[in-house]
Amino acid sequence: MSLESEQSTPRHFDPTLVNDPFDDPGLYVDLVFERRALLFDLGDLGDLGRLAPRKLLRVSDVFVTHLHMDHFAGFDQLLRRLLGREKILGVHGPAGIIDAIEHKLKAYTWNLIEGYEGNLTFHVIEIDEAGRLTAAQFSGHTRFHRSDGERRQSGDGIILKESGIQVHAATLDHGVPVLAFALEERAQINVWRNKVEAMGLAIGPWLRAFKEATLRGADDDALVDVTWRNGQPEKSPALPLGLLKKEIMQITSGRKIVYVVDCAFTDANVEKIVRLARGADILFIEATFLDADAEAAAMRHHLTARQAGTLARLAGVKRVVTLHYSPRYKGQGYRLAQEAQDAFLNG
Ligand SMILES: [Zn+2]
Repeated sequence: MSLESEQSTPRHFDPTLVNDPFDDPGLYVDLVFERRALLFDLGDLGDLGRLAPRKLLRVSDVFVTHLHMDHFAGFDQLLRRLLGREKILGVHGPAGIIDAIEHKLKAYTWNLIEGYEGNLTFHVIEIDEAGRLTAAQFSGHTRFHRSDGERRQSGDGIILKESGIQVHAATLDHGVPVLAFALEERAQINVWRNKVEAMGLAIGPWLRAFKEATLRGADDDALVDVTWRNGQPEKSPALPLGLLKKEIMQITSGRKIVYVVDCAFTDANVEKIVRLARGADILFIEATFLDADAEAAAMRHHLTARQAGTLARLAGVKRVVTLHYSPRYKGQGYRLAQEAQDAFLNG
């Protein structure tokens, strides 16, 4: 529980596209207060112009949507940068990614790796269409020999869950299964230290019980044992939960960022995307074709800009950012962006 004296200080996600929208898709999300970053998709990381080496070293977890080359070819670049560093990198992706990484790592000769200063380890987790998670590990210590880990069922498509953040995955259809991801900051309960003191109450362990009752969804009439400052035996030893919630607590809802690429505009995909992206602060979504070329989009299992904007509107997101433009529109990226914004704002 955080105790706040004035303003609450929510953690911040700072998202940036890795490349120009005409180049390989990718999203870098800096978790500013955790001194680390997440990377969505591993296409060509460019000449690393946009993603300075220092930024790449901050990446703790990578999320790969599918194994088409423009979403995965950057694995080698990342490996090249991280080799020799003491680091554990989480890689999350669709069924088949463990085999894919095993093959990538087998393509190189590792007889000198024992002499490297730091040990690089990949923790890979794949999620299949039924939500089953399979883990495997590749450590430089064993020349990246595959070591199979546990299998378990994911709750509700959650592929990463930590105390501060979680990532949901949904499986979409692109001719092959493709993952879409939602990164969420978990809601925080802030207790105002100054307001507790203004009520004459003491800062103490009772606040933990108060927070637990709040998280449990206990009745507002339920009584919470409190501690008064300076004794005060004449005061009631317990106060109603509802009163305390009103007076001393604020819930900060977490930020939500969603990343959707490579999918057809089918009913099933629309339903899954809208559910995943509901209420997001920013939806990053492919807008590969203009709606005039909707037929070509459907053939290639991609979205048009208009469809992307429509999905953003249906999901009620606050902002939509488009990416993954077809090279046929080079020099006209503004048309794709505009078409998506029009559908988002005006339907
Ligand atoms: Zn693809």
